[in-house]
Amino acid sequence: QSQDRLRRAWVEVDLGAVAANTRRLVALVRPARLVAVVKADGYGHGATAVARAALDAGASALGVATTAEGLALRADGIRAPILVLGVEGAAEPLEALVAADLTATVTTLAFARRLADEAHRQRRRVRVHLKVETGMGRLGALPEEAPALARWIAAASALELEAVYSHLATADEEDPSYLREQADRFRAACEAIEAAGVAVPARHIANTAGLLAAPELRYDMVRVGLGLYGYYPADHLRGRVALRPALRVMAAVAEVRRLPAGSGIGYGRTHVLSRPSAVATLPVGYADGLTRRLSNRARASWEGRAYPVVGRICMDQCMVETGDDVPPVGAVMCVLGPGDGGETTVEEAARLTGSIPYEIITQLGPRLPRVYV
Ligand code: PLP
Repeated sequence: QSQDRLRRAWVEVDLGAVAANTRRLVALVRPARLVAVVKADGYGHGATAVARAALDAGASALGVATTAEGLALRADGIRAPILVLGVEGAAEPLEALVAADLTATVTTLAFARRLADEAHRQRRRVRVHLKVETGMGRLGALPEEAPALARWIAAASALELEAVYSHLATADEEDPSYLREQADRFRAACEAIEAAGVAVPARHIANTAGLLAAPELRYDMVRVGLGLYGYYPADHLRGRVALRPALRVMAAVAEVRRLPAGSGIGYGRTHVLSRPSAVATLPVGYADGLTRRLSNRARASWEGRAYPVVGRICMDQCMVETGDDVPPVGAVMCVLGPGDGGETTVEEAARLTGSIPYEIITQLGPRLPRVYV
């Protein structure tokens, strides 16, 4: 880490923006509770710091992908409920999950049995969210299996059925028809569980796109990732709530030269200066998550002006054409951010590279220290 600091490229995370986004989303979905999804190291922002900021701002619980992610939050002293959204099959370290009081996603009877056995062994109760497959085709009990599974969980003294949930596959699309189908299947599954004599204590199905697109699907809880970090899952969902991107990728100029017209820049000489220009080299590259597909497309900003990233982005560096402006060595540029200085935004980077904001931010590598402001 100290070496990385010397390299002078980092991810700046504005925890005030995370807190403001959380407060706005909490106010929007109230009385539903907000589960702050901090998997994949808080979508690249740092899970523990984001978790603390979101909990302080009104989130009720945290969501992670794996038991290991939940354990890391517990190790950092986080006591809030943590829902493990993933299912790790027979490899799941149940002993640690139970001991750390993580909330388990249950999708099969076999898993419910193993969980109950481990909870008995430790003389503890485990909170359980039963997940139903309604059209994502990924994880969940089939609707016809759900009532029997719910009955088994409800009868197991070591398990506490806290919620029934599902996940939406198309909430970010403009056509709501498949979302409605999933919502109908979810409603029917919950009704079937109740008809089997098991009260459904709480239900949840909405992610960021779902809570924005379909307010009636907020139910008792929403599971929000992307929105916390200040991004919209789709353009047509903008404007329903004001969100602020929390992240900037920063780098200090390592070297700067004035080069003559005709100079080639970078591997493959994909950019040639059309006039004499200063070229600044930044110590950040595709190994840090600044994808090479942004070569000759991204813009870096410095002191409120934007400059093109020219030539191919290298593994550890990239070059910026600054024209007649000559930023000094050490000048701090932003290569990915909210766009307030004219730099490429995360959403634009996603669009330019055929990706999604989720991928752009979770690809930011461990070589970039997270600096909290
Ligand atoms: N719930 C589940 C099961 C997820 O896998 C995710 C993330 O992919 C979320 C909620 C949060 O989704 P989003 O970041 O779109 O709000």
